[in-house]
Amino acid sequence: MTTVLETTLDTTVAAGDGALIAVPAGGRLRIVDLHGNQAVDTLLYDAHDLDNRYSAFDTIREQRAVFLTTGSRLLSTRLDELAVITGDTCGRHDTIGGACSQESNVIRYGEATRHQHACRQTFLRYGAQAGIGQRHLGHNLNFFMNVPVDPGGNLTFADGLSARGKYVELTASRDLLVLISNCPQLNNPCNGWNPTPVQLLGWWR
Ligand SMILES: [Zn+2]
Repeated sequence: MTTVLETTLDTTVAAGDGALIAVPAGGRLRIVDLHGNQAVDTLLYDAHDLDNRYSAFDTIREQRAVFLTTGSRLLSTRLDELAVITGDTCGRHDTIGGACSQESNVIRYGEATRHQHACRQTFLRYGAQAGIGQRHLGHNLNFFMNVPVDPGGNLTFADGLSARGKYVELTASRDLLVLISNCPQLNNPCNGWNPTPVQLLGWWR
């Protein structure tokens, strides 16, 4: 007999806004790129131990892959499996480009961008309610973001591969806190120069 879980989460994150979602072990969280070409910066934490958090370095090394898609195991700083990507209609996600900050914006795009809102502020704002502070912010996942890496190891922020309605789905391997910044970046093509809303759907008991 197939058990159909009710949708337990259905919310929209506005362009440039964020969210903190508690996903229990076995729960599925789907992020939908409603308008296409939107980067969704994401951090994962063991809900019972914030120091056991997503590690881009360990995830890349253990799987010998710099891009993420269906089947990718998202590992923690202690090599625990936090979640697995169990659905992906986009096909490629980045985890080396990092999150935008006011400091990196100034270096990349000039002094005029110093006071533009950035993912780092959103992470701190939404993480604060769970005690997630600056020391808990590591390299993140960039869902729907296209960061090609050439054989020489150079990377670029390129125009996105995603499109309206494409989604990525995670299944939690343990109780998680999922911290999301729906990237407000205006200065590179990661958001198609126009940040747009995303939808979060969740199924769990
Ligand atoms: Zn950003």
